[in-house]
Amino acid sequence: ALEGGEAEGRQNEVLLGDMGTGKTSLVLRFVKGQFFEHQEPTIGAAFFTQILSLSEATVKFDIWDTAGQERYHSLAPMYYRGAAAALVVYDIASMDTFARAKKWVQELKRQGNPNLVMALVANKCDLEPSREVETEEGLQYSQDNDMFFIEASAKAALNVNELFYEIGKFAFLCF
Ligand code: GDP
Ligand code: MG
Repeated sequence: ALEGGEAEGRQNEVLLGDMGTGKTSLVLRFVKGQFFEHQEPTIGAAFFTQILSLSEATVKFDIWDTAGQERYHSLAPMYYRGAAAALVVYDIASMDTFARAKKWVQELKRQGNPNLVMALVANKCDLEPSREVETEEGLQYSQDNDMFFIEASAKAALNVNELFYEIGKFAFLCF
């Protein structure tokens, strides 16, 4: 039996993707239920934890939220090497961020651990009128690369818990 707050499992997750795609906002929505229109850019990386009760077990998530800036790129392997899951985030209103998300996926496949669970996260789906990346494009790319795919909005609190829950469950059950 578990004491209050004690977790049976631990899991490291890392968020990668271009600056401004909403990585920090997704984590803050998940961990604190908050959203900020003027979210401060992340410097280097930030660390968050969250305990989630899955039907199979209680899991403590250790989440590394990385900075998307190019100048921090060389730090990224430090965060994704030990991860059970990597969430690669793009902004549906920016084709550039989708192009960069694909680069992240290729880097993870080249250097990462073969058991890494990967998810492609199409964030800011509340910005439908400004959409540049069609759902079908994201879905197709994720299927071609054995990734989960989800369209989410940190702002509208859409699919954020579902994202972490599904990934957490899948990565945890794979151990
Ligand atoms: P990061 O650099 O990837 O960590 O991105 P941030 O979380 O700092 O977010 C960058 C900007 O996008 C901030 O102004 C956020 O308020 C905004 N943002 C984040 N998520 C969403 C979203 O789902 N929808 C909209 N419309 N804006 C968002
Ligand atoms: Mg950030």
